[in-house]
Amino acid sequence: MKNLDTICVQGGWHPTKGEPRVLPIYQSTTFKYDTSEQMARLFDLEDEGYFYTRLANPTNDAVAAKINELEGGVGCVLTSSGQAANFYAIFNICQAGDHFITTNNIYGGTYNLFGVTLKQLGIDCTFVDPDWDDARIEALFRPNTKCFFGETISNPGGVVFDIERFADMAHRHGVPLIVDNTFATPINCRPLQWGCDIITHSTTKYMDGHATQVGGAIVDSGQFPWDEYSDRFPGLTTPDASYHGLTYTKAFGQKAYITKVVTHLMRDIGSIPAPQNSFLLNLGLETLHLRVARHCQNAQRVAEWLEQNPRVAWVNYAGLKSNKYYTLAQKYMPNGTCGVIAFGLKGTRDDAIRFMDNLQFICIVTHVADARTCVLHPASHTHRQLSDEQLLEAGVRPDLIRLSVGIENADDIIADLQQAMDKQ
Ligand code: PLP
Repeated sequence: MKNLDTICVQGGWHPTKGEPRVLPIYQSTTFKYDTSEQMARLFDLEDEGYFYTRLANPTNDAVAAKINELEGGVGCVLTSSGQAANFYAIFNICQAGDHFITTNNIYGGTYNLFGVTLKQLGIDCTFVDPDWDDARIEALFRPNTKCFFGETISNPGGVVFDIERFADMAHRHGVPLIVDNTFATPINCRPLQWGCDIITHSTTKYMDGHATQVGGAIVDSGQFPWDEYSDRFPGLTTPDASYHGLTYTKAFGQKAYITKVVTHLMRDIGSIPAPQNSFLLNLGLETLHLRVARHCQNAQRVAEWLEQNPRVAWVNYAGLKSNKYYTLAQKYMPNGTCGVIAFGLKGTRDDAIRFMDNLQFICIVTHVADARTCVLHPASHTHRQLSDEQLLEAGVRPDLIRLSVGIENADDIIADLQQAMDKQ
């Protein structure tokens, strides 16, 4: 395997003689074949080839291959958003009547997807505090539990997920561990190395890094033994009537799960990215290794500055030695965590809002993990659909300011924060 830096730049697209050096945008819905027989073999999954972009497209596939290589999986599928990636990752193995377990500190959109929308589809989930001891969490597994879900670094709380602990726990109960690796990115953490089975991403964030597209990805480790728990995962281990009685684990082996995402969910629900968006995502990926290092370097300086600032009530950044998750972060992300810092100012909620309004080049945007430093008040913005009780359960204090440190000069970022505080 090549080093991650090289994969960022070179992975996925390997042109041969006379082909474009830069990944082309195959902005085509469909692909041409000479005979009806050729096309029929594709529909029967007997031949590989492109025929309709909802199922596969060369630009999307090249970018998926790069992300797959970065994470070390057996296959990757791109989706039109991170929300779609998390929905598909669960829905690929859960149906009405099933249940799964998730940590309670996950991104607000995912919290809502799991706690409201999936419930409407008959899929129940239990939210757990990862600080609870094993016995308390294990007691919540049920015969119909199908997976465990967590975020490597939670958005916005910055809680570091103990991947090995929860992979072992999930496996003791015969279910896969799904990890949303959006904030750490494979540059800082590769969850499959710690026993995680399936990874999801919002590629909208660091992977793109320039806020030019919304996208997601699912990566399969190929390691989960679906056939050992055949009764629990019939969608993968028994014949699929909608595919001429094909059984995914028999037909695709280690790629059973990820193939089903395409042939079943993409076929029936859609949610593919536009090839144009995958092209933009690929440009972002080409510098991911450089940007992530700079984000972490800047965030570390800003977090240390905030920590010693008398106007600041608290700071949560796993790179700080004083942080509750510092030791876990050192284990899973020794080279740095991410650029996102959560902190609170002394004073009221209105003081926090006034501080943000007084920032100059640091903008208030509904985004995070962007090259440009940005700021958000989750209780007023991304998480406003949650009740106060749910906010606290999700680790979001009402005064929490989410600062996504970009790749500008750290001195300028600190100066902007300082001048906004001086206006308090
Ligand atoms: N997962 C995490 C950790 C996120 O932060 C987000 C969005 O902020 C999502 C998933 C959803 O991604 P998207 O906005 O691309 O749908």
